[in-house]
Amino acid sequence: MSNIIQNFIKISDDLSFISPAPTIIAVSKTFPLSHIQPLIQHGHRVFGENKVQEAKQKWSEIKNTIKDLELHLIGGLQSNKAKEAVKLFDYIHSVDSLKLVKELAKAEETLLLKRKYFIQVNIGNEKQKNGVSEENLSSLIESCNSYKLKVVGFMCIPPFNSDAVPFFLELKKLNKQFGLPMMSMGMSSDFLEAAKLGSTHVRIGSKIFGSRASQ
Ligand SMILES: *Cc1c(COP(=O)(O)O)cnc(C)c1O
Repeated sequence: MSNIIQNFIKISDDLSFISPAPTIIAVSKTFPLSHIQPLIQHGHRVFGENKVQEAKQKWSEIKNTIKDLELHLIGGLQSNKAKEAVKLFDYIHSVDSLKLVKELAKAEETLLLKRKYFIQVNIGNEKQKNGVSEENLSSLIESCNSYKLKVVGFMCIPPFNSDAVPFFLELKKLNKQFGLPMMSMGMSSDFLEAAKLGSTHVRIGSKIFGSRASQ
């Protein structure tokens, strides 16, 4: 059995003690399809990518063959790539501006597709990070509603090198406040903590596929 599958099974086992267990988004960015295939053959269907162009090259063809693949865009999205993103991804985790909301709505209309969206919250108020600030959150949700985008929950990336738990708790509080069903939080280093706090979607890359050469 390949390492990738062993890694995946270990993670699933760790999560099986949590009820309900979150969905594992296998983050396959930078890895070629040849690395990913064994996991698909193993039966996993949920994958995450952070770049539209890379994902398009990697997944367009296979998505037509394996109909129940579920693709998640977890990286920042420029509004000029909204249409390509809506075409390929079932979920987009990085909604964070009105401009993007408008382009996504336009893309859904043009393509006759409905997708699911997480709003990315800049939970640590970091200048360099994507995501909407907490104070602008309710107005962005209202915009999503008026443009008929289906918002399923919030997504966050806590500040690097700090305890993620307080940030997960904050996201959980917001999710509850706005009555949203899903939460996208937890990565290789902290997915178990996130899952224990009710994350519905953990985004796991290196712990499944190994370390990435570059980004
Ligand atoms: C790359 C990435 C992940 C996965 O990171 P790992 O630490 O390798 O698990 C999760 N979320 C986002 C937004 C990412 O860009």
